Amino acid sequence: MASETETYAFQAEINQLLSLIINTFYSNKEIFLRELISNASDALDKIRYLGLTDKTQLDSHPELHIRLLPNKQEGTLAILDSGIGMTKPDLVNNLGTIARSGTKSFMEALSAGADVSMIGQFGVGFYSAYLVADKVTVVTKHNDDEQYVWESQAGGSFTVTQDTSGHSMGRVTKIILHRKEDQKEYLEERRLKDLVKKHSELISYPIELWTEKSVDKEVSDEEDEAMADATEEGKVEEVKEKKGQDKKRKKVKEVQHEWNLLNKQKPIWMRAPETVAKEEYAAFYKSLSNDWEDHLACKHFSVEGQLEFKSILFIPKRAPFDLFDQHKKRNNIKLYVRRVFIMDNCEELIPEWPSFVKGVVDSEDLPLNISRETLQQNKILKVIRKNVVKKCLELFGEVAENKDDYAKFYEAFSKNLKLGVYEDSQNRAKLADLLRFHSTKSGDEATSLKDYVTRMKEGQKDVYYITGESRKAVENSPFVEKLRRKGLEVLFMVDPIDEYVTQQLKEYDGKKLVCCTKEGLKLEESEEEKKAWEELKAQTEPLCKVMKDILGDKVEKVAVSDRLVDSPCILVTGEYGWSANMERIMKAQALRDTSMSAYMTSRKTLEVNPSNAIIQELRKRTEADKSDKTVRDLTLLLFDTALLTSGFSLDEPNTFAGRIHRMIKLGLSLDEVEGEEELADKDMPPLEEAEGAVGSSMEEVD
Ligand code: ADP
Repeated sequence: MASETETYAFQAEINQLLSLIINTFYSNKEIFLRELISNASDALDKIRYLGLTDKTQLDSHPELHIRLLPNKQEGTLAILDSGIGMTKPDLVNNLGTIARSGTKSFMEALSAGADVSMIGQFGVGFYSAYLVADKVTVVTKHNDDEQYVWESQAGGSFTVTQDTSGHSMGRVTKIILHRKEDQKEYLEERRLKDLVKKHSELISYPIELWTEKSVDKEVSDEEDEAMADATEEGKVEEVKEKKGQDKKRKKVKEVQHEWNLLNKQKPIWMRAPETVAKEEYAAFYKSLSNDWEDHLACKHFSVEGQLEFKSILFIPKRAPFDLFDQHKKRNNIKLYVRRVFIMDNCEELIPEWPSFVKGVVDSEDLPLNISRETLQQNKILKVIRKNVVKKCLELFGEVAENKDDYAKFYEAFSKNLKLGVYEDSQNRAKLADLLRFHSTKSGDEATSLKDYVTRMKEGQKDVYYITGESRKAVENSPFVEKLRRKGLEVLFMVDPIDEYVTQQLKEYDGKKLVCCTKEGLKLEESEEEKKAWEELKAQTEPLCKVMKDILGDKVEKVAVSDRLVDSPCILVTGEYGWSANMERIMKAQALRDTSMSAYMTSRKTLEVNPSNAIIQELRKRTEADKSDKTVRDLTLLLFDTALLTSGFSLDEPNTFAGRIHRMIKLGLSLDEVEGEEELADKDMPPLEEAEGAVGSSMEEVD
């Protein structure tokens, strides 16, 4: 008895979407297969879930799989699954009459230039079938209903008919695509295999392709004839070779069919870590990252409890050439939801600082049709992100246990760790543990802050550091003289980004980080030392006043220093302003905002060393004559050299050079030749009047 065919109109927006899909040219048609396989996988998930509590649900088709059946003669491709299937109301509602919120959004997205491949994210993936088919037939059987056939050539309506063909498939859904004339390629085995590999390799149910292969068979003439008859009858008989016969044998082609499993690889992250070989991780890493080298380290873990996800994270051996390129599309961690690939540039999964980490995250909880917009507010994703960062830190910690590996890692990614210290307040303390610096005591190997702390002297409260352009520049800086003599270790922070690190990393393990080029450096002194210094300070203060008058606005103030041993003077900067090094870095930034410099530029204090011979001599001279010209000239010279030794640059290098040249002439007892003067800077203060005196103080310096 023929059953009735009912015709339904597509809901208006779905109808619009269908005509858009059919009438617009999209180059990325191949994604239809991914969408239909993903739907099949969802349907399988549902029945698997029901089967957990009621095993009989699976009886109608115990095997859970997806099958692809191309048929060149008929020009169809069928996608079969033994998932939950659809009842008649399901068919009517899900495939056409009930509006889906994503339909309109997807059309808007399309007209705004979105790619058709995003269709799945809007929950209307099924309709992508019309990218390659002009007619779609869905035959489906749900456990709770009869077998039905849904069919549509778009054009506003679809039909639903009970399948009375008597050919029951058990619990199966079969989507038959009657391909468009120009879409032959999707019937080719090769193309289908490639597509599954590309988009659906990691589906957790077997995907099988009905393949055809012709095998050569050697047969004798008689057998060939027999076979020809047999084939006519629709049977192919096995041909057995008969030994000892000298009859002529020839080759014939025989066509065989078989199911060919396409997604052989069980996703590596779904396996227990102890069953995965090192080479397998390496191969997976390479396929993920396109790197030609193995990874440096990896972490394979799963998180269970409130939410569930599995993940593998990899650290590459090298930094990519475009590590901090702002315009680069970040595609480090691929997001899967229940084995279905969702996207490979999910910025919500990991912050920027560890963006060199590659890997996968496969969530059990996120909805499959999650869109980029909803990702941002997604709570599950926030928790995943937190866990991913935590695991990254654990992984870095593990790498740190091997010195050689860590040296490589640190060379490639220390900037990322430092960016992390700057940006990520929650993990700052853990990141600080990963930092390494050379120091006055470290020798060739860099030290961690933790090791620094173990070496701290009794009574030492602070961790001292100096920032500068290079290790050479800071190693013998006047700023570390006293600390060195007192046996206090000083860390060398010579990477430009270190300046940013110290802006945020104020302390480590309860100990304050103190910059020894800035104001506020307090060193423990004995009572005797303090007394002696107080005395010198009182003596030197009048000189300081004179020097401040000479230097004017060049310095904030001139003060008596207690941090110098050998050098006559240095320039220290305010505790909260830029250091000399920071000023250098900021000046070097082509696109910097100059408005900042006005109030951040280092406010300099000239600190003079009261026990230094030059300072003492100048003191004596000012005591004798407050307006001694030598004092004025030498103060300017001392200021310029202090700029250099303190890490600043000279505003007027020619004036400075002119002064030095004059000193050289004095040292060589050369008289100023007439006319040569124009070489020297006109604005330069005179030296002549005190020639002899300067000579003698130079000797003292020597
Ligand atoms: P989505 O899968 O995102 O919900 P689709 O347009 O791809 O959107 O599918 C619409 C609905 O049709 C699905 O939610 C599901 O209920 C049903 N469906 C599609 N394909 C299948 C299938 N192979 N087996 C069972 N139900 C299916």
